[in-house]
Amino acid sequence: MSNIIKGIAASDGVAIAKAYLLVEPDLSYSQETTDQPEQEIQKFNDALKNSKIELTKIRNNAEEQLGADKAAIFDAHLLVLDDPEMINPIEEKIKNDKASAPHALTEVSQNFITIFESMDNEYMKERAADIRDVSKRVLAHLLGVELPNPSIIDESVVIVGHDLTPSDTAQLNKQYVQGFVTNIGGRTSHSAIMSRSLEIPAVVGTKSITDSVEQGDMVIIDGLTGDVIIDPTEDELKAYQHKRESFFADREALKQLRDEPSKTKDGQHVELAANIGTPNDLPGVKDNGAEGIGLYRTEFLYMGRDTMPSEDEQFVAYKKVLQEMNGKRVVVRTLDIGGDKELPYLNLPKEMNPFLGYRAIRLCLDQPEIFRPQLRALLRASTYGKLNIMFPMVATIKEFRDAKALLLEEKENLKQEGIEVSDDIGLGIMVEIPSTAALADVFAKEVDFFSIGTNDLIQYTMAADRMSERVSYLYQPYNPSILRLVKQVIEASHKEGKWTGMCGEMAGDETAIPLLIGLGLDEFSMSATSILKARRQIKNLSQTEMTQLADRAINCATVDEVVDLVKSKTSHA
Ligand code: PEP
Ligand code: MG
Repeated sequence: MSNIIKGIAASDGVAIAKAYLLVEPDLSYSQETTDQPEQEIQKFNDALKNSKIELTKIRNNAEEQLGADKAAIFDAHLLVLDDPEMINPIEEKIKNDKASAPHALTEVSQNFITIFESMDNEYMKERAADIRDVSKRVLAHLLGVELPNPSIIDESVVIVGHDLTPSDTAQLNKQYVQGFVTNIGGRTSHSAIMSRSLEIPAVVGTKSITDSVEQGDMVIIDGLTGDVIIDPTEDELKAYQHKRESFFADREALKQLRDEPSKTKDGQHVELAANIGTPNDLPGVKDNGAEGIGLYRTEFLYMGRDTMPSEDEQFVAYKKVLQEMNGKRVVVRTLDIGGDKELPYLNLPKEMNPFLGYRAIRLCLDQPEIFRPQLRALLRASTYGKLNIMFPMVATIKEFRDAKALLLEEKENLKQEGIEVSDDIGLGIMVEIPSTAALADVFAKEVDFFSIGTNDLIQYTMAADRMSERVSYLYQPYNPSILRLVKQVIEASHKEGKWTGMCGEMAGDETAIPLLIGLGLDEFSMSATSILKARRQIKNLSQTEMTQLADRAINCATVDEVVDLVKSKTSHA
């Protein structure tokens, strides 16, 4: 009998493969002493050797897939394995104290970790993390336990884990990883967003998938419905193989729309743009017929590494995106770190409510030494295409003015240095905070455009953490309160002759699209893989009818009423 578990559908498609469990294994041991120290030392040396072989493989893999920067983390780990200051005391402890190898390793490495962690130096704190990682690997070899490591997977699998961090997700090799399923997270958690740009089917927020699946179990992930089937029957396998093929066939059929305009059936054009995280996403942007980039999340440039990217490194990435988009509009968002996107090397203090804390524009204005190089890199790249810059998490007009002042200062500095900067850079903000939506008419006089970040706007308006599956019932994109805020922002921008886009996941949502067309949204920015489906849907909608639909929706009392209304008015479309 198969076991079916329900989660939240996070990325379209169907995956069928063996499970690869990405969970912390049990590394406990009972033997603390030995009466055969020579043998223990030998075991320790073997574990060191095997760890080295494994780490070298991981390192080379990371270099190939992710570049030399990311591989450097593993170089640091390899150095620890060769460090006599670390290795000798372990061997001595085995020899002199008759400690077992696992115990000697744990005690000595914990000493180093405590010392490094207590230092008031960022570099040293990172060394503590390196030692923790490496000693875990050596201990696993001593105990004969396999550590999960998604970057060395070399057969078709479905990843099953509690959660995937953005850097875990970035390490997944699309050639082998058919899909993933997690205990926690929602449709707008970053692992879900990444899975859509990697075009990997995903189901998140199952609460307990890691308790129900064992390594190697056959698993089906239905990223269209959120169903996960463990140990499928022959009939289920057949049915899902069929569903998988239909999914691919539909995707092929959609490709016909790649170069078509995005127009409603009564002739209203809207812009369908793509959200990207790195220049590596550009092929998907082109294949899916995006008319521009509505959100370039630059924080991925800063993640999965040990140090801040330099101004030049950033310049290269921004220039590449602008050049490849060939004059189409590119909206680059400045650093939005915080919330579920951490940068360990910034050593930020832990907060009670990270989504309400020191993040994004707040951090950038507080630490201009981080912000200025990004602004300079963007300004330098501005002559290579149609650049628009937007600031994330703006809560007050003052934040916008302060950020704009820094940008203008850097523009002046560059000009003084004889570096050319475009005079035609659009400057906008993300509308993610209810205070900003409420004051949209005032903002509209100063910004060139708005981009509504519904992923956050919904969580702040409904006071429902976007990462929490327990309150996901409150995370309601179609709640009339959200629709009213969206309407207010769009109208405020139009009054001042400005435009409004939306780059939260709601922009690509099949139920939301008719409403957003009706509310007069100008630009829809979404995972590239959602664009063609959205284009097909929009071609079948009438803007006049959708305006009436939206007028009724904002006067509904509940989200269910809105959904029923949309269904009743669009089912024939
Ligand atoms: C948003 O909040 O809607 C958004 C697009 O930003 P992010 O998902 O990166 O927080
Ligand atoms: Mg956001």
